[in-house]
Amino acid sequence: MDFSLNEEQRAWQLKARKFAQEELRPISLKRDRIADPRATFDWDMFKKGSRLGFRTLAVPKEWGGHGLDFVTQALVMAELAKGDSAMSKAFSQCWKWSHLIAAVGTEEQKERFLKPFLADDTFVLGKGITEPSGGSDNRLPPDDPKAGVKLRAERHGDEWILNGEKAFIANGNIGKLFFLDVRTDPHASLRKGVTLFLVPNDTPGFRVGKVFNKSGWRFYQNAEMIFENARVPHANIIGEVNGAYKKSTGDTSGGDIFGDLELAANALGVCEAACEQALELARTKTQGGKLLKEQQTIQLKIGKMQMLTEALRSRRLYMVASCRRQRAADEGRETYTQIVAGARAPAFLTIVVRSSDQA
Ligand SMILES: Cc1cc2nc3c(=O)[nH]c(=O)nc-3n(C[C@H](O)[C@H](O)[C@H](O)COP(=O)(O)OP(=O)(O)OC[C@H]3O[C@@H](n4cnc5c(N)ncnc54)[C@H](O)[C@@H]3O)c2cc1C
Repeated sequence: MDFSLNEEQRAWQLKARKFAQEELRPISLKRDRIADPRATFDWDMFKKGSRLGFRTLAVPKEWGGHGLDFVTQALVMAELAKGDSAMSKAFSQCWKWSHLIAAVGTEEQKERFLKPFLADDTFVLGKGITEPSGGSDNRLPPDDPKAGVKLRAERHGDEWILNGEKAFIANGNIGKLFFLDVRTDPHASLRKGVTLFLVPNDTPGFRVGKVFNKSGWRFYQNAEMIFENARVPHANIIGEVNGAYKKSTGDTSGGDIFGDLELAANALGVCEAACEQALELARTKTQGGKLLKEQQTIQLKIGKMQMLTEALRSRRLYMVASCRRQRAADEGRETYTQIVAGARAPAFLTIVVRSSDQA
């Protein structure tokens, strides 16, 4: 398998590296220390990144985006994360969900949602699945109709009336448009009773609740979303009613689980930055009259960090190879889901936590 990058990929990687080093890193720590979680997000910085293409890079070229594939997105992600791993996530939410609109939306939905998204540097996207009563259920998903999504929608003519809450939603308080998993049949299991809606933030009856505080990733906004008789047009449904958990939404490109590759790339950026900073400190700081780098304990710690980072890089390469195989595979013969099933989030999250522990 050839892992060399083409010119376009290299250019995006370098552009992201420059932005991360020159713009994000200098402000990252300062903003992370702002006490009010609502005030941590830097709109000027986000707009600057958007103008460089970091918000719209996943939108297909025919719709006016940059049409970057998953591999290039992973490269950009790792570079941005080296500057601030929360800002990179704020951008990548836009990649995942604009990709999904392009992959599964009707022509009318693409026209209505992709065009304003492309035109506005402050147009942020998100997806709401988790609720106060649970998140893991939605991933399993169990057959009991009482498990998982409880945000309820009832149809009234051409509209659906939504009542309930979402919790811990990334970009929940700053997003302009959200994909939402909504219960449309309370008597059926998640697989048969949930519908995927597109819900703009100016929907009557929608309001943002609490904005959650976090001990890290504080640039990355996370909020409660409250729906009280919120009215959403039937035209905003993706795929079929009660079809959110079926593949019938139509995204066969693997975009729905790009989240795993994206998280691996984000974690890799964090690990690389931790290694660089630890090495820099070891080269310049002395203790007991000796540079840290000359002390065996520190050498062993830095060696372990490098080793774990390399392990993660290999993991990402494996996932990248999977993406390429997917591109080569005949549609339907081998799905992206099957290919990356062995390379899911827990492995690389363990690595990033262990590596950061050493720093
Ligand atoms: C920074 C951040 C960003 C997020 N962004 C989003 C977002 O954009 N959109 C979104 O929808 N959600 C988002 N989430 C929510 C996230 O997806 C959920 O936190 C996650 O799915 C777990 O759900 P929960 O917190 O409700 O925990 P629960 O589901 O209540 O689980 C609590 C604990 O119990 C364990 N557990 C649960 N069920 C079982 C079982 N059957 N057997 C054994 N153990 C079990 C779990 O492993 C976990 O340790 C975000 C969370 C964070 C922290």
